[in-house]
Amino acid sequence: MITFKKRKIENFEFLEHPRVLRSYFPFGLQNLLPRQLRIIIHKLIKSKNNKIFFNEAEATAIENKLTENNKDSNPNFSNLIFNTHDIDSIYGFTAIEDLLKLENDYNIKSIWFVNYAAVCNQKQSLKIIEKLLNAGAEIGLHDIIHDFKTPYLDEINIRKKLDSARSFCEKYKIIAYRSAGLFRTKKMFEILKDYFKIDSSIPAFLVSNRGACYRLNPFKISDILEIPVTAPMDSDLIFADLSEQEMLDCLKKYYILIDKFNGCITQVTYTEPHFFGNKKYFTIYKKVLELLLSHKKIRLFRELITN
Ligand SMILES: [Zn+2]
Repeated sequence: MITFKKRKIENFEFLEHPRVLRSYFPFGLQNLLPRQLRIIIHKLIKSKNNKIFFNEAEATAIENKLTENNKDSNPNFSNLIFNTHDIDSIYGFTAIEDLLKLENDYNIKSIWFVNYAAVCNQKQSLKIIEKLLNAGAEIGLHDIIHDFKTPYLDEINIRKKLDSARSFCEKYKIIAYRSAGLFRTKKMFEILKDYFKIDSSIPAFLVSNRGACYRLNPFKISDILEIPVTAPMDSDLIFADLSEQEMLDCLKKYYILIDKFNGCITQVTYTEPHFFGNKKYFTIYKKVLELLLSHKKIRLFRELITN
């Protein structure tokens, strides 16, 4: 029987709802925002100034935090690897079958977090979900509407939203959740435990500007198992305007750091066509998979839950 250390919810960084998302809204409505507009927005975000590497002084401070926060982590979880995908919108479904084929060639099974609005009532998308399940993959829920609002609603409305996906979650054996944009509140965690066994909405490092927990292993928070996102996401690498070699070097650097603290690697890539879902990134994605496989076997979240 695996036991996980329980952490106090107060010890975690929660995020304010950014004003731009609260007031203007259109950014999060991935399914309604024309793809071209999203690409323009992403081009504006892309910059060499987006911080993904850290300098020597920062590295020391980060290692100190990692030492402090990981000293009592369960050694059984060192070197676990989780390969996860986020499917934010209907556009994210176009690349899935090719990605699945590619992963099958490596005998890798991944966890696919799907946004409910992008899949419900979409016959073709539901067929793809079934194909993933039949291939032995795991499906997770990536929020209800990708509008970055769920954690900030009142309890009744959070529950209403989650209830709307309940039968979908039951049908596809979903036990894990990831919030849109990794936004999270204390209230969200207290409610999530009634719906899911696992959450993966907390980054370990500050790269995505979404707060950081500096914990590299799964831990319990509010009766839910938290699996932190420990590696930079494909979007982080793309927004930092890195070349393929720089992307690989960056990931290697993080993987070495995670290994040093016996942490587990949780990799996130998007299936959207402007991220790793685009065939132009498949060569680099294969190299990322090879890098992961050179560590250890890639696991599924559900393997951590014994009952
Ligand atoms: Zn997302």
